[in-house]
Amino acid sequence: MKRRFFAQELFELRNAVPVDALIENVLNIPVKQSDGVFRFLCPVCNEFQTATNLFTNLARCFCCERNFNPIDLVMIAKGVDCDERRNALKEMLNRIGKLVGGAS
Ligand SMILES: [Zn+2]
Repeated sequence: MKRRFFAQELFELRNAVPVDALIENVLNIPVKQSDGVFRFLCPVCNEFQTATNLFTNLARCFCCERNFNPIDLVMIAKGVDCDERRNALKEMLNRIGKLVGGAS
């Protein structure tokens, strides 16, 4: 039961959270605008050769050629181990709920 509930939370996190808002406002990853494009500091290689795609809700680093979904970003940015993931993600969801406007 708990596991299924957690899966639901992951689904919401993956799909409902704008990846750029997650990066900038929740994870506090450094960002900048370059030629009108939102770029973030890649948490893997520390380069700004990045972009986000709000249609797929993925972030991409062109330097290390990785795609990050919101869950990947939380894991990498927070560096949480397996035991801590659930709590870390729940905390994220609570904060995101406030950010995106009042989801309970
Ligand atoms: Zn990178």
